[in-house]
Parts: sequence; C-alpha cells; structure tokens
Amino acid sequence: MHHIEQHDKLIRALSRLPGIGRRSAERIALTIAHEKKLLLEPLLNALQGVNDNITTCDCCGVITTFDANPCAICSSSTRDKSIICVVENSDDILTIEKADSFNGVYHTLNGRISPMTGVRPEDLRLKELFERVEKEKISEVILAINTDVEGDATAAYISEKLASLGIKTTRIAFGIPADSGIIYTDPITLKRAFNGRLPATKLNLN
Ligand SMILES: [Zn+2]
Repeated sequence: MHHIEQHDKLIRALSRLPGIGRRSAERIALTIAHEKKLLLEPLLNALQGVNDNITTCDCCGVITTFDANPCAICSSSTRDKSIICVVENSDDILTIEKADSFNGVYHTLNGRISPMTGVRPEDLRLKELFERVEKEKISEVILAINTDVEGDATAAYISEKLASLGIKTTRIAFGIPADSGIIYTDPITLKRAFNGRLPATKLNLN
C-alpha cells in the first residue's frame, strides 16, 4: 500500500498501546479509515471526554476525574488510611475493589522495575510512595505486586526501602485459584501457597 502520512502516524500511535502489535495497529487504522461514521466519531468523542475529564489521583495514582481529586477512595472517611496497598497499575485497584476484601487505601506504581524494557525505579511512583509513608501515619504497607521475576525484584526493592524506614511491609499470599486443583497448579504457585499458608480457622471468606 502507498504511504499516507496521517495513516502511518495513527498506526505508530496505536502500536504504542499495550497489547497492540504493528499488525493489529495496521488493521485497526484501516478499519477506522473505512468506518469513519461508525467508529471514528464515537472514538474521537470518547478520547475528547478522557482528555477533558480524566486525570490520575494526586495521592494514590488511580484514574479519577478532575473534580474528584483526591479520588473517592483517598477521600473516603470509612477507609483505613494507615494501611497502604501497593499495586502495579490502576486496573489492579479496580479488581481488588471488586473482591471487596480490603478497606485501606492504595498506591499505584504505574508499572514495575524492568531492566529488560528499561524501566528504572525512578520511572515509577516510588518517590511518592516513600514520601507518603514518611509524611502520614502508616502502620502497614501491603505489596500486591504480581509474582514473576520483575514483580519479585520490584517487591524486594520496595520492602528493603520501607524496612529502612521502619515500616511493616507484607506481601499478599499467592495460592491456588478457586475452583482449581492441586494437580493443575504449577510448582512456583504451589510453593508460594505453602509459604503463604494461614491457620485453618482464619480461612473464611469474609
Ligand atoms: Zn486516590
């Protein structure tokens, strides 16, 4: 296909989105060009709405609106402000909130330390976390960071710093998924499930 500058520009912009490779970006760009009324107009509207209304919470980093900053969780009077749950991204917060099992507040890192993709500690919202911990009265920081090599490295980095500040730091236990079985569980998950075990009397879901 001959090159059209604006079209190429859209492909490059789409390729930067998570989970979209070059081929998908090309297909999306072509579909949009063919379906201006059906796809492009609502997309432009939605993007404009995001641009005009959405920001990230100055405190925890979750997405919120300009007129609700700090976010609803940070400004709630019923949440325990002394417990901070650290997550990689905003969508982790939405998932944890759906499970309705945590009543503290959050802190989003916006990623994790990754030497492979060039993400350094200073690229994350770590400075904000350490400032928050020093400024506010925090009794515990819970690390709800994913378990893989980069997640483990990020968790180790944070827990070392927080230990030097004298803050109790825990990491959520990772275990066997509900409705699954031990024979389907990989060795690393099983090992973590053993390490994160609880007294049987505490294993109720409420
Ligand atoms: Zn917030």
